[in-house]
Amino acid sequence: MSKEKDRRIDNDSFRDHLTTVDEEGKRNWIFPKKPSGRYYKWRNVVATLLLLFFFSGPFITVNGQPLLLLDILERKFVIFGTAFWPQDLHLLVFGALAVIVFIVLFTAVFGRLWCGWACPQTIFMEMVFRRIEYWIEGDRGSQIRLNNAPWNWTKIWKKTLKHGIFFGLAFLISNLFLAYIIGADELFKIITDPPSQHLAGLISITVFSGVFYGVFAFLREQVCHFICPYGRMQSVLLDNNSINVMYDYQRGEPRTKVKNRDDLGRKATLDDLNLSGADYGDCIDCHQCVRVCPMGIDIRNGTQLECVHCTACIDACDDVMDKIDKPRGLIRYSSENAIKKGKEKILTPRVAGYSAILIVLIVTFFTFLSMRPDTETTILRQPGTLYQELPNNRYSNIYEVKSINKTFKTIEQEIKLVQPEGELTPLGNFSTVPPQGSTKGRFLIKLKSNNLNGSRTNVVFAVYSNGKKIETIESGFIGPGSKKERQNNE
Ligand code: SF4
Ligand code: SF4
Repeated sequence: MSKEKDRRIDNDSFRDHLTTVDEEGKRNWIFPKKPSGRYYKWRNVVATLLLLFFFSGPFITVNGQPLLLLDILERKFVIFGTAFWPQDLHLLVFGALAVIVFIVLFTAVFGRLWCGWACPQTIFMEMVFRRIEYWIEGDRGSQIRLNNAPWNWTKIWKKTLKHGIFFGLAFLISNLFLAYIIGADELFKIITDPPSQHLAGLISITVFSGVFYGVFAFLREQVCHFICPYGRMQSVLLDNNSINVMYDYQRGEPRTKVKNRDDLGRKATLDDLNLSGADYGDCIDCHQCVRVCPMGIDIRNGTQLECVHCTACIDACDDVMDKIDKPRGLIRYSSENAIKKGKEKILTPRVAGYSAILIVLIVTFFTFLSMRPDTETTILRQPGTLYQELPNNRYSNIYEVKSINKTFKTIEQEIKLVQPEGELTPLGNFSTVPPQGSTKGRFLIKLKSNNLNGSRTNVVFAVYSNGKKIETIESGFIGPGSKKERQNNE
C-alpha cells in the first residue's frame, strides 16, 4: 500500500475533514489523474485564448494607451483604454460595486463557472503547470511511484527539470504581472537598463517570481481552499437553483461496485449492469471521478467549497458511462432542485433582485462617465499666505492651480476670473496640459476694495479651452475685512 494511501482519511468523514489534510494534520498531496473528454477539450480552447490574451495584454494599446494598466504607485488606472485618476473615485466606487454585484449574480446563477474556466489560478495550474508535470513525471500512478521512490538519478533529473521549468514560467508570469502594473515600456527599461538603475523593479520581479513558483509548485489547490476569498463566499452565494457540477444521486444511488452486483453466483459482467438497473443506481463506485479531481474531493458527497467546477469529474464519469452503456451525465452541470424535483429554475426572485441592482449601478456608472469633464482643475489659495495691499485700494491673493488632462490629446487651456470683477495675472505658463498628464502653476488675483465682501470673498473661475468653457471653479479671496471685523479680530 502506498504511503499516500496509508495517510488518507476514511472517505465517509468528508464533512469534518479536509481531504488534503491527514489525521496528523499533514498535507495529503493530490495526484489527480490526467483528465480527458469533451469538457477538457473545450477548456483547452478557452484556456489557450485566455493565455494569449494575458500574454499580449500589456502590449495591446488603445489610442496609444495600454489596454489595461493598474499603476498603483502613480495612482493611474487604464481600463480598456480609458484612464481613471484618483479624482474619479466616485466612478471607481460605482464600477467596483457593479463588478461585485455582477460576480454575486453570476455565481447565484452559474455557480463557480469562473473558477473552472477562466480563473488565472486554475488556468495556469491545470492547463500549464500540471500539463508539464504530466509530461515529465507521467500520469497519476507514475507520479505516486516517483514520489515514493528513493532519490535515484531518474527522480533527481525529473524533479530538477520540472522545478527548473516551473521557476522559469513563474519568472515569466511575474514579468507580465509587473507589466500590468507599471506598463510594458517601464518593464522593458527594467530589463534593458543596468540593474543598479531599477533595484526596486528587480526586487519586485524576484519576489513575484518566488510567490508564483510557490503557488504553482507547492500551494496549488490550497490557494482555492484557504486563500481565495471568492471560494470562501460560495456558501452564501449559492442556492438550490444555482447551476453547479453535480452528481445525480437520484440516478446514481445506491452505488454498487461491479463485482458486488452479482447475485447470479458468478462474477458480474458489464452486461449485467443493464439487467440489474432496477436494483442498483448507475454509479459503479469506480472512483474515477475522485481520482481525476485536482481538489481531491468526491463530488458524490454533494456540492463542496473545495470544488472549482473544473469539469474533470464530468469527463471521467461520462467515459465510464460510455463503457457500461449508460447515458452520459451522471455527473453534470445541474442544480440541486433540478436533480431533486426535476425542475430547473434560473430566474428566481433573488436573481431578479440582483439583476435590477446591477442595471441601476451600470446605468449610474455610464451616466457619470459620460458627464466626466476632460480636465479636472483645482484652484486653492497658496497655503501660508495672506492678502497683499496694493496702491489704489486694491488687494491681491496668490493661488495655486493644478489641472489634470484625462484625455489622450494635449489640451490648451485658459483660466479666467468670472466673479467678482478683478485682474488675473499668471505667474508662469500652465496653459498646456499634456495628454494623460497634469500641469501645475500659480497666479495672482487683484481685487478692488469695493468688490470685497468682508474678510472672505467668494471668487469664481472658469477654465476655457478653444474658446469653450469646460469647468467652473469656486474659491475664496482673503481681504482685510470691514472695520468692525478688524476690531473683532484685534
Ligand atoms: S465516475 Fe461515475 S460511476 Fe464512477 S464513481 Fe464516479 S460517479 Fe460513480
Ligand atoms: S469535484 Fe469535479 S468539478 Fe469539482 S474540482 Fe473536483 S473534478 Fe473538478
